[in-house]
Amino acid sequence: MTRRPKSSRHRINIHRGYSVDEVARARGVAKGTVRRWTKSGLPSITDQKPLLILGEDLVEFLAKRKAPSQRCSPFECYCVKCRAPRKPLGDMAEYIPLAPKTGNLRAICPVCSRLMHKRIRCDALEPLREVLTVTITEPISSLTE
Ligand SMILES: [Zn+2]
Repeated sequence: MTRRPKSSRHRINIHRGYSVDEVARARGVAKGTVRRWTKSGLPSITDQKPLLILGEDLVEFLAKRKAPSQRCSPFECYCVKCRAPRKPLGDMAEYIPLAPKTGNLRAICPVCSRLMHKRIRCDALEPLREVLTVTITEPISSLTE
């Protein structure tokens, strides 16, 4: 049939429709995976076979799908409530030293206002402070000491 240049393999054209087979090839996944996507939120143009998926929908679906499994960048904390990495509210965070070399980074999620925690090494603190305002909080000394 048609011969396509290899370079277009991973590029999704948002203005055209893709068959399940084409999506699978473009993304390097199994056809079954693509069918699962259509059942878990990937819209298709027709409900009849063969399914046709709009490139635009595919790009959007993949972008949304990718977000929760994204790893936090150094200045983000993982919000348990949102199940996503979030940049601290107001670009502010608090560092609570737990041990000479590690501590807890505490920040507020800008979306759900929950506290987010992240264990970091203290040498990760300096690069962090270029992006965030980090307040260093002394740990509350134990009363039983
Ligand atoms: Zn949140």
